[in-house]
Amino acid sequence: MGADILDTARGGGRTVSLTFDDGPNPADTLRLLTVLRRHRIAAVFLLCGGQVEAHPEVVRRIVADGHHLGNHSMHHDDMSTWSAERIEADLRETNEAIRRAVPAARVRYFRAPYGAWGATPAVAAALGMRPLGWRLAVGDWEPPGTDELVRRLLDGVTPGAVVLLHDGGGDRSQSVAAVDRVAPVLRARRWRFTLPAG
Ligand SMILES: [Zn+2]
Repeated sequence: MGADILDTARGGGRTVSLTFDDGPNPADTLRLLTVLRRHRIAAVFLLCGGQVEAHPEVVRRIVADGHHLGNHSMHHDDMSTWSAERIEADLRETNEAIRRAVPAARVRYFRAPYGAWGATPAVAAALGMRPLGWRLAVGDWEPPGTDELVRRLLDGVTPGAVVLLHDGGGDRSQSVAAVDRVAPVLRARRWRFTLPAG
């Protein structure tokens, strides 16, 4: 398992990987799942353990729909100054929460909250998770309005980009609406939605 931070979508040419952080968050995650199903997109959900414990049924829906999972820590702490031991305890606790929700779940990725990686990549890799970064973030945490998110996504996407979006951590209805609008536009421009390359 490599500890280098992956930020590339699988396949060559106009491929893009959508990744969603900070959930599960019932209101927006469930609507997002409907949107992804409508557009036949498989995505990665980077889950916070505290949210998983609160909403395990939403994690089961994510897995049932064929999406991949990542670990985004228990409580979204900045881990940049944490020791390897403290990081490992948090990452294990998060994975245990995910596996209580979905016993057979494979947790393929880890993403550090705030992208504050510190010592996390090597710890995540030792636990069998690939550190997953991104090439495009569109500031959907602001949130800037659905029209602006659509513009930033269409202007910012590059071949092979992993894209950071959010389904949790606040009202993410604009993120969900933007994905619903962007997907058919990109498809018409011959883009393919794939999972990350690693
Ligand atoms: Zn986050």
